[in-house]
Parts: sequence; structure tokens; C-alpha cells
Amino acid sequence: MDHVDKFGASRYAVQDLQLFRDTDIPAVKPALANCEVVRVARGEQILDTVRARLYIVLSGALGVAGETAMGDATIDRILPGESAGAESVLDDAADLTTMTALEDTELLVIESDVLWTLIDENNGVARNLLRLLSFRIRAANALLRRRQKLGQFYRELSLNDGLTGLYNRAWLADMLPKLVGRARQDGTPLSLVMVDLDHFKGFNDSHGHLIGDHALTVAASVIKNALRPSDFAVRYGGEEMMALLPNTGLPAALMVAERLCTRMRDAVVFTDMRQPLPHITGSFGVAALRPDQDELKLIEAADAALYRAKEAGRNRICT
Ligand code: GH3
Ligand code: MG
Ligand code: MG
Repeated sequence: MDHVDKFGASRYAVQDLQLFRDTDIPAVKPALANCEVVRVARGEQILDTVRARLYIVLSGALGVAGETAMGDATIDRILPGESAGAESVLDDAADLTTMTALEDTELLVIESDVLWTLIDENNGVARNLLRLLSFRIRAANALLRRRQKLGQFYRELSLNDGLTGLYNRAWLADMLPKLVGRARQDGTPLSLVMVDLDHFKGFNDSHGHLIGDHALTVAASVIKNALRPSDFAVRYGGEEMMALLPNTGLPAALMVAERLCTRMRDAVVFTDMRQPLPHITGSFGVAALRPDQDELKLIEAADAALYRAKEAGRNRICT
């Protein structure tokens, strides 16, 4: 960082600096006249660990490293007329953020005591500083909101199946033990309906994988749309899905399974009217949580019931 001049003797004009816009220029000029102008070479860092100061970019550009609430790095680009370091002067803490010249840059350096005098004596400077800080707070908040949305997006991505939009295995591994625990604790029933599409390998072979994918999304919609808001639809694996029914005992779960089985038969996969229904069918295994079961045993029970439905001829329900 090389000293160039006093601001008063430099080629720069006060009215070009954001902080002094619409202020009483003749009043601030004398205070600034003795402030230093320094030159920073491209790539050079300014690390203020001792004194808090305000820097105003006169030419070139300054990169200020920051950190978001999510912990990742950002670079703010400070352009001619703009300033950096106001916060550190105002709260009187030397700034540990790194500033780097992005080009050969000339800076006006305003020491903390000079800035305070300017603030005390000039309402316009105080107003501009407030405006600057408010702008920074808004920008930081907007960034935070974007990151929060992004975080939610990735959370959903990791817990939902990409093809069908149903919850996935990771979600099940997290939630089923909790649902089982809650049912045990509250003494409420919990049922599980396991679904496997019938002859789906043959379906893929006849119609192709893409139409197979479409059939899967149709089957998933059938399940989703047939459940109450408090139930959950999960894609367990390939063409196996399940409905998790809290507060539901075996008789009610059987009714849900009946509804699913019927609606699966009626579901339209091919819009071509010449293709007679059913386009798809499913086999259903139903189990209600018993006191001696954990979540794995509950899945096993539903799976065994599903196997019986396949054995008995598919397109039906077994317990
Ligand atoms: P079953 O009635 O005994 O269930 O016969 P199946 O042919 O449905 O059973 P199997 O488990 O042998 O085959 C499942 C098929 O499901 C195999 C696989 O190609 C298909 N499948 C699994 N996941 C997907 C998928 O994401 N998209 C498509 N198109 N097919 C899938
Ligand atoms: Mg199958
Ligand atoms: Mg299967």
C-alpha cells in the first residue's frame, strides 16, 4: 500500500463519493483535505487488524471477503465512489475481513476520528451512512433467505423420490422409527400398506421403460390422492410403494387398501382409448403394528402379506 497524496491535492472530487452525496460539500471538504490517498496494487491485501478505518474506492475496485450465515464465502465488489469498513468504524472494532484490490486501486482512507467528526457535524453524512448500512442489511437478509430456500430445496431433494415425488427410503429410515415410537407411547394404532405393481417387468418389456416410468408416476398419484393428509406415501424401491397410516387400525387399513386396489385398476396410463383397463394392477400387503413389533418387523409383516397376495393371484389384498 503506497501513499500517493492528500485527498485535497488529488484529482478526485468529493461530490463523486457516495457517502457525501447531497451533503454540505464546502463543510466536509476541509475535513477530507488531509485524509490520505493510497494506491494498492492488483492482488494486494489490506488487513486492518489495528485501527478501524473507512476506505472509499476512488479508482479501480476492491473485493471484500465476507461470510454468509451458512458459512460460505462471498466477495463484495466495491466500485469507485463506494466505501468499505463503515461497520468497523461505527462499532469501533478493527475489521478482520480481508480486502483485496481486484485491480490497481486508489483509496481514500478516512480514520475513525475524522469520520466521527464528519458524522457529528454533518447530518447528510450520518444519513448517507445509515442508508448504506440499511442497504447492506437488506442485501445480507436477501442472501440469507435465498440460502434458506436452497437448503430447503436440497432437504426435499434428499427425502423425496425424484420420479414420483413420494417420500424415499432415507425419509422412511428416519421417520418410521419415530412413528412407531409415537404409536407405542400414545397407545395409538399404526398400519402399513405395502404395494407392489403386478408383472411390471413384463409391462416394461412390452411398452418400454419410459412408459414404465410414467405408469409408476400414475401409480404414485393414485396412492397419494387416496390418502388422508396425516398419512404418508413412500417409494420403498423400484415399483414397490407403501402407505403409512398413523392412528389407523387393521380394519380401516384394509378399507384404505381396498380403495387403493380399485383405483389402481381404474387408473389411466395410456390415453389411447383402445387400450382396455386395467392398465396397471397392484398387490397389497396390510399389517398393523403389534406391541411386540419394531419397525423392521412391521415391514416384514406387510411384506409377507404382500407375498401372499402375489401367490393368491395378484391384483388383490392380503393381511
Ligand atoms: P410381480 O407381479 O411378481 O411383482 O412381477 P414384477 O415383474 O413386477 O416383479 P419384479 O420384481 O420381477 O420386477 C420389477 C420390475 O420393476 C423390474 C424393473 O424393471 C421394474 N422397475 C423398477 N423400478 C423401475 C423404474 O423406476 N422405472 C421403470 N420403468 N421400471 C422399474
Ligand atoms: Mg412387481
Ligand atoms: Mg417388486
